[in-house]
Amino acid sequence: MKSTYDCVVIGAGPAGLMTAKTLGEAGQDVLLVDIKKDIPEVNRCCCTMLINEPNTHGETFRIVDNNIHLEKTGITIRYTGQWVKMVKSIRLSPGGNRLTMVNEKEGVAHPYSKNVLLRCLLEDALANGVDVATETAGIKAENINGGVRVFLRETRARSFREVKCKVAVAADGVNSQIVKGLELFKQRKFLTTFHVASYFLEGVENPYPNSWITFVGKGHTRQGRAQIYMLPKHLPNAKPGDEPIIDIMCGTPIGYTAKAALDQFLRDGRFAQWFRHAKVIHTASAVLNFYTCILNPVEGNIVAVGDAAAFIETYCQSAMLYGYRAAKAILNVLATGKGYEEYTNFWRESFEYCWPGEIEKALRGFGLHVMSDEELDYIFSLTDSEEYQGYVSENTAPDIMKKAILSHLDQMKKERPEIAKKIEQHWTITDTQSLLKGGLDREKGK
Ligand SMILES: Cc1cc2nc3c(=O)[nH]c(=O)nc-3n(C[C@H](O)[C@H](O)[C@H](O)COP(=O)(O)OP(=O)(O)OC[C@H]3O[C@@H](n4cnc5c(N)ncnc54)[C@H](O)[C@@H]3O)c2cc1C
Repeated sequence: MKSTYDCVVIGAGPAGLMTAKTLGEAGQDVLLVDIKKDIPEVNRCCCTMLINEPNTHGETFRIVDNNIHLEKTGITIRYTGQWVKMVKSIRLSPGGNRLTMVNEKEGVAHPYSKNVLLRCLLEDALANGVDVATETAGIKAENINGGVRVFLRETRARSFREVKCKVAVAADGVNSQIVKGLELFKQRKFLTTFHVASYFLEGVENPYPNSWITFVGKGHTRQGRAQIYMLPKHLPNAKPGDEPIIDIMCGTPIGYTAKAALDQFLRDGRFAQWFRHAKVIHTASAVLNFYTCILNPVEGNIVAVGDAAAFIETYCQSAMLYGYRAAKAILNVLATGKGYEEYTNFWRESFEYCWPGEIEKALRGFGLHVMSDEELDYIFSLTDSEEYQGYVSENTAPDIMKKAILSHLDQMKKERPEIAKKIEQHWTITDTQSLLKGGLDREKGK
């Protein structure tokens, strides 16, 4: 590691790797650091689905020749692993009634291997001359005259190391240490914390192959506050024709234990028979601190990309998109003195959670699970035999769900007026804290 570089990128996830690779390709002298020992190793939960719904974050992502193609930006990202085409997204009530979205032709989403993606990006970054330092934490970045000073600490070192550069990139994920040290962090409003635990499972007797499954409702776990998802996925070393394994994950609010909830769900939940012969072959976890997005992701010559600037996930695909756009902006700034504004505008216009009302919309879709099991079983019994066209999408799926459920409102008003009233109320709440708190209060029977 040298003491000066053109650019220092902190964090080698999809955003940082893409930024570093693009800057390296353009001939910049780049240092990329990550706290991990082995960058392609993934121990943080991630479903890693390619969200193929057109115009996701202002881009349309397609699989072309097995690679990830960004249609609008006109770039292709190398991917050498296996894909799964999921054709259904199924929300299951505790009693097993369904709300199903389907897309036979394009798929509702395509799970892939994050390990393989990171390996491909890392290989390309190294091939472009990027200097990579593993087991090295970014501690702080500060603007100084003529550039940025970055403080780093190697895992086993007691002291900091200072590196100077023209531009630093904070790509250290949703709980970004670098962003916390900047003024722009003060723009953010804290919402809540979630813990996630996930397993790769072999031997699951899954009655819904090629489907994304969301287990909606309190009754799936004893704790009653878990959000559980399941999907098929290939292991990093899978060959064409191999059977996918199952990736299952469980998220809980702070104060509840995600792993305990997941273990109990698998052992004696309503669908425990699916897992009676299942074997855990990999475990992962994540802590998610939910903050509102940073609307101005550039401070001086420090640029925040990917999850570091976001309210939850930009997704791997868009972390790469923003990494690419940030690298292009940095190259323009280094060549002409201008370029950050274009990146900031693109971020604000394309990342939906920067828009007013989008966080609330997502929370409303999520918040349905706070209704009682019996109420959910009734609501989903109305949609059980139906299929709605859609994708796995945080932005458009809540609306499809809302339309599907409200299309039965007249019947609900006749048969179960109290549920109809609750459902109508649910979709009129507009502030985030009430949506978050509403769930907790309703659960306590208030
Ligand atoms: C439960 C769950 C499900 C998800 N499902 C999907 C999905 O289906 N599809 C999808 O595309 N995305 C999904 N995501 C989101 C996806 O994981 C992220 O959006 C994506 O990884 C963001 O990339 P990033 O590079 O911005 O951050 P990250 O991938 O988080 O990378 C940050 C990197 O920075 C490193 N780092 C952290 N702190 C420091 C530090 N101080 N110094 C140095 N290095 C540091 C980390 O080790 C890591 O390598 C999911 C996430 C979760 C939690």
